[in-house]
Amino acid sequence: MSDTFKAILVSRDAEKKQSVDVVDLTEADLMEGDVTVAVEATTVNYKDGLAITGKAPVVRRWPLVPGIDFAGTVTDSSHADWRKGDKVILNGWGVGETHYGAYAGRARVNGDWLVPLPEGMSAHDAMAVGTAGYTAMLSVMALERHGILPDRGPVVVTGAAGGVGSVAISILSSLGYHVVASTGRNAESPYLIDLGAAEVISREELSQPAKPLAKERWAGGVDSVGSHTLANVLSMTSYGGAIAACGLAGGMDLPSSVAPFILRGVSLLGIDSVMAPKAVRLEAWRRVGADLDLKKLSTLSRTIGFDGITAAARDIVEGKVRGRIVVDM
Ligand code: NDP
Repeated sequence: MSDTFKAILVSRDAEKKQSVDVVDLTEADLMEGDVTVAVEATTVNYKDGLAITGKAPVVRRWPLVPGIDFAGTVTDSSHADWRKGDKVILNGWGVGETHYGAYAGRARVNGDWLVPLPEGMSAHDAMAVGTAGYTAMLSVMALERHGILPDRGPVVVTGAAGGVGSVAISILSSLGYHVVASTGRNAESPYLIDLGAAEVISREELSQPAKPLAKERWAGGVDSVGSHTLANVLSMTSYGGAIAACGLAGGMDLPSSVAPFILRGVSLLGIDSVMAPKAVRLEAWRRVGADLDLKKLSTLSRTIGFDGITAAARDIVEGKVRGRIVVDM
């Protein structure tokens, strides 16, 4: 097909100076893959913000169409699992990092990377969840596997007003957990309570250098911040508890000690969404369909058009985005 479609392309020059342009592409410009998808909705994740602003080395192939997740309809497939007309979701697998991504009218990918759109969910709903929400679900599943169920006590969610945080609060509260939401934006307290937080605490309570052990405050948590915040969260976790670590919005370091692990039997559960095996993804998306209230999804997301992507990318790395952004393509 020779029809053109709009795409965002990040490039860099000989001095490694990055530029971002809107270009016209055709399907012949796309990278290898056995399934072509008409992208109907995508989103702006923190990682997309890093890719577009160049603030961290997310892009590892130049030039590149960024965008780590999308939902859409298969237009062409030579993969056994997919036929024209199928509704699909993609999260990760290096798409938007080393493989042309979501910020284009069409995407061509490996069919093994795709999962079906859950029953009853639109492409727009799926992207209101997006990679951030699917990662929140992976984090909740990790806590459950570790036996951190609602009766074990409160759970903390850091970076609460962000994408991972907002979806984690919604899921955990609908499952019956007592959720403590930690935010740097106190003005977002009503929003967080609306999502299901039982308590809202200030980010400052967790951002100073951590003591090896502090007063036990929660049985588990979902941390999207890292650095001192994760260190404090660990030092405040009660005996036998567990924290799912999925993000680095506050820093990649972990200035902690082994005290929570060896004196309180606390566990640190690592969460990666990018290379998660297909069976895990299918279960996470099934659980999203079952456990996430679609009404809450509309509270925590707003919609922009293709033209708004670069501005939203800048906003998300500056911590200015509340909840999730859906890009209607
Ligand atoms: P958002 O920007 O939407 O949310 C991050 C939140 O963290 C912000 O809203 C803010 O919440 C808080 N925050 C931002 N900067 C700081 C800071 N300097 N110190 C403390 N808190 C801060 O991003 P996402 O929710 O999309 O992603 C969150 C993190 O999770 C990112 O690091 C992202 O890369 C990572 N991630 C990892 C995945 C994986 O596979 N492991 C997949 C998806 C995301 P508030 O204002 O409420 O304090």
